[in-house]
Amino acid sequence: MSSYPSNRGYTAMVNRSPRFKIPPESKYPAPNAYDYVRPEADVKICYPFNSSDTRFRLQLGKQIGPSPSDYYHYRRRVEPVEMAFGKQRFVIPAYSVFCGAENKSRCFKCQTQPEGDYYHNFDHNLDLCRPCMNAEIEELNNCKYERLKRSNRLRALGKYKPARWCDFFHKHYSGDLSVDKYPRTVLRLKTRVENYLQTYDTMHKWYVQY
Ligand SMILES: [Zn+2]
Ligand SMILES: [Zn+2]
Repeated sequence: MSSYPSNRGYTAMVNRSPRFKIPPESKYPAPNAYDYVRPEADVKICYPFNSSDTRFRLQLGKQIGPSPSDYYHYRRRVEPVEMAFGKQRFVIPAYSVFCGAENKSRCFKCQTQPEGDYYHNFDHNLDLCRPCMNAEIEELNNCKYERLKRSNRLRALGKYKPARWCDFFHKHYSGDLSVDKYPRTVLRLKTRVENYLQTYDTMHKWYVQY
């Protein structure tokens, strides 16, 4: 009989079988058995905006259309807003009024009497109706015109100032008699508004885009 208490740390009749079953040995190596070498990333020296990259080149013989600059479209001048509130400023009449018993205007292009407002060149005493003027501008938008030719033509067209016949205000009778269609106060107000709005309507101020 062994001594009591036991030197072995346990008594007789105690269960000495292992508490947990030993797991079967795996045929694969453990994770730490792998000697993994991380591949080094190729560090590319990058210049800002990829400026070191090779230039983009079009393939030879490839069909390309016209570039954006080949399309021409004239722009009207952007006038600054009139800030001289309450101050005297030089007002150019928006429209020249031709007073007479009959409308003597005649478009020199289409040889017809302009309907409503038209353009008048005081240097050469020529009239130009609005459809003809619009057609001229539309024609100038064509990119077949060179810069110089276009700007010269626009300058020539700029000489044509807006004009109208006096029929909108009064009617002429025999002699110097003319009857107003509405009071002069109304006319003055209308002219004032028109002169103000004229600074925004830059129809006769051409701007050539370079
Ligand atoms: Zn008149
Ligand atoms: Zn015309």
